[in-house]
Amino acid sequence: MTREELRQSLSFYRDLGVTDVYRVPVVRAKEIQTGVIQTEEIMHAIPEVLPSLAPDGDTLEKIQQDIGPDCRRCRLCEARSKIVFGSGSPEARLVFVGEGPGADEDAQGFPFVGRAGQLLTQMIDGTATKEGIPIRRADVYICNVVKCRPPENRTPLPDEMEICGQFLFRQLMALQPKAICALGSTAAKALLATKDGVTRLRGSWHKWRDIPVIVTYHPSYLLRPYNQNAKREAWEDLKKVLHYVYD
Ligand code: URA
Repeated sequence: MTREELRQSLSFYRDLGVTDVYRVPVVRAKEIQTGVIQTEEIMHAIPEVLPSLAPDGDTLEKIQQDIGPDCRRCRLCEARSKIVFGSGSPEARLVFVGEGPGADEDAQGFPFVGRAGQLLTQMIDGTATKEGIPIRRADVYICNVVKCRPPENRTPLPDEMEICGQFLFRQLMALQPKAICALGSTAAKALLATKDGVTRLRGSWHKWRDIPVIVTYHPSYLLRPYNQNAKREAWEDLKKVLHYVYD
């Protein structure tokens, strides 16, 4: 790992809320033989002071340029067709974060354009209309934790989330929304550095670097016929975040 890769990796964890990072001493041959590691050395591990990952005056265009037209930073590049950066208003006060592109998104290059995306659009537009909030999907910003489609729509792996997470971090820093809505447990994990699932996290406010975060079910989960109760809960979550942002 180069110094720069190490810096980015450490910065990513810090930005996820992992504030204590320690250098663990190398285990020496004698310690391997005896099986005894000098705990004293671990106790003296040094907390790192980490630089920010978001350049001053960062913009969505700059971030997209930095990703580049043919990003090869992780293995997801191998099977993807298009990089799905994000879409919506650069002035958005509300940002939705999903997991990663599916087949339709991969083909078109835009997030949430397949069946789950249609449901998300209905949920945003429908709830806003019903609640008298004058916004539409185009007024919010939508992006994913990873920008390339994982093969067979599998969950992104930790290293893929870590590598691509630097760009999500910069997107959120550049947008500075009033609130973030995490769609599903992968987005919640990436933003909140938690292992808890959606059921546990939904219903209360969380924070990503001082920005309030609400966690709700991923629209793909809501498409399954046996999850109709969750659908009602997701509409409630959406109502809550829309009122918070636009009232
Ligand atoms: N699921 C996601 O998490 N993101 C998309 O863009 C589409 C489906």
